[in-house]
Amino acid sequence: MKRVIFCDFDGTITENDNIVAIIRHFNPPGWETIVNDIVAQRKTIREGVGEMFRLLPTSMKREVVDYAISNAKIRAGFAELLQFCKDTDIEFYVTSGGIDFFVYPLLAPFGISEERIYCNGSDFSGEQIEITWPHPCDGDCKTDCGMCKSTIIRRFPGERYERIIIGDSVTDFEGAKLVDTVFARSHLILKCKELGLPYHPFETFHDVIKVLKLQEATT
Ligand SMILES: [Mg+2]
Ligand SMILES: [Zn+2]
Repeated sequence: MKRVIFCDFDGTITENDNIVAIIRHFNPPGWETIVNDIVAQRKTIREGVGEMFRLLPTSMKREVVDYAISNAKIRAGFAELLQFCKDTDIEFYVTSGGIDFFVYPLLAPFGISEERIYCNGSDFSGEQIEITWPHPCDGDCKTDCGMCKSTIIRRFPGERYERIIIGDSVTDFEGAKLVDTVFARSHLILKCKELGLPYHPFETFHDVIKVLKLQEATT
């Protein structure tokens, strides 16, 4: 079977969550209430993220984009993981709830083709930053994810693909339930423990490569 990886971006490929970092840095009045509403599930991720970016005027585009790109740090071993996937014929997809204006530039040095990067979009043509949602939930997901990871994963049926997810947060959990192998850190570990879902913990992508190599040796 063909192995395929679905890899989260914020807090996984990058060490921290870029959306939170941007909003916290520019600190527009009202953002904390929105975050609390998302955490308490009074608002969906799509609603909350859309509202937070609407607090920022498009006149700040340069500063927002520059801050996002200069602030982010790529997790150790990422280039090596991509090379390992090439060498062993594993398909690699980025499934990100992040926004195009930082996801694409930060991934540019790594040569992943753009059709293998799923993330949200942005529109700077009005007064406020407007997030766009080109990859919404299909009929099987009622979470209003924004960028729906489980919708993407379902396009790779388990009869034909050995599916692997790498992630760090609650937004990866619906996808984690669908796949064969889960690599988890941070909140996703807690969520997996809570529901008894097996996972491999990781801190760097070198940890991921080690497990993938072992799996290969035993199949
Ligand atoms: Mg994440
Ligand atoms: Zn969804």
